[in-house]
Amino acid sequence: MKPFDVYPLFDIELVKAQNCWIWDKEGKKYLDFYGGHAVISIGHSHPHYVKKIEEQLEQIAFYSNSVKIRQQEELSQKLGELSGYNDYDLFLCNSGAEANENALKLSSFHNGKKKIIAFEKSFHGRTSLAVAATNDTSIQAAVNSSHDIIFVPLNDEVVLAKAMTKDVCAVIIEGIQGVAGIQTPTNEFLQSIRKKCDETGALLILDEVQSGYGRTGKFFAHQFANIRPDIITTAKGMGNGFPVAGVLIAPHIKAKHGMLGTTFGGGYLACAAAIAVLDVIEDEKLTENAAGMGNYLIEKIKKMDGVKEVRGKGLMIGVEMHFNASGLRNDLVFKHQIFTGSASNKNTVRLLPPLTITKAEADHFLQGFALALQSHLQSVSK
Ligand code: PLP
Repeated sequence: MKPFDVYPLFDIELVKAQNCWIWDKEGKKYLDFYGGHAVISIGHSHPHYVKKIEEQLEQIAFYSNSVKIRQQEELSQKLGELSGYNDYDLFLCNSGAEANENALKLSSFHNGKKKIIAFEKSFHGRTSLAVAATNDTSIQAAVNSSHDIIFVPLNDEVVLAKAMTKDVCAVIIEGIQGVAGIQTPTNEFLQSIRKKCDETGALLILDEVQSGYGRTGKFFAHQFANIRPDIITTAKGMGNGFPVAGVLIAPHIKAKHGMLGTTFGGGYLACAAAIAVLDVIEDEKLTENAAGMGNYLIEKIKKMDGVKEVRGKGLMIGVEMHFNASGLRNDLVFKHQIFTGSASNKNTVRLLPPLTITKAEADHFLQGFALALQSHLQSVSK
């Protein structure tokens, strides 16, 4: 047997990682400005994270959701405090797609409706309903086509108003669109969705899978708009690499035994990892660091020749070029030893480093990026 060949791979084998740095088997050291796809929040192999998981592993690693798991209560309490959603409930699962699938299903349980509004260029994951709400037909199979989904252009209040009929079950929107290449809903647009949902009885789901956990300089990106969604989904940075995801549920949505469930979700190890992440985000003031370092990077990159636009907030940054950026990303990895992310917009490079980056690491990135950009511009002008 061999791995199913669905990923285009860099021919690099990683063997070690420490905070913002990763090493390959030849001993080459890379700066991680991709965070394994926005997953590494508190830095690779943070000592507190390693200790918490190891200690838990020695006690009890797993039991099913048929017993009381004290660590789920500790995690809920801590997440409520740090995110400002103390009065919400938490359902734990294993991935971003699963969190969104459950959020959509829960909305439908709540109001009995079926129609979902999502946005152009959205990405919500690959399970059946989550992928149907993802605006990319290339990753949808025939079996995903039976859902009732309407795609509205981001930040278009007129189209939104027309789409918001009384039969809408839920509106699902990313705090900041990630896969699309970092596209931000305006505060006014988010406020207007909130208002329309209140008027029609639809639920508002904020997908904070990529934009959550301090990355944008607030705990959740939608908090810039001062709105409170009915449901918030999280994953990626929540476990710093340990698979754990969450659905934060407003108090007016009532639980019923059996309505949601999972075997692995909320296991002891996942909780230990997620609690350790919140400890470090709080102790090391990583949300504040993300805001400061993000502003610094954005201002510097804006001044570089060859850059068309810089978008985003905190350490969720999209840099759009006037050209296809795949060659530039290859040069960054192979010539400058810096990992960055791609986007569905091929001209955009995504920067999603750990929230722990220092000014020295930001400068290291800026230097490599400027050199790679210069050599690209020189080669096209020849
Ligand atoms: N939602 C958003 C905004 C994402 O960026 C992703 C993954 O990139 C997902 C959902 C799906 O998460 P997962 O791959 O953990 O299922």
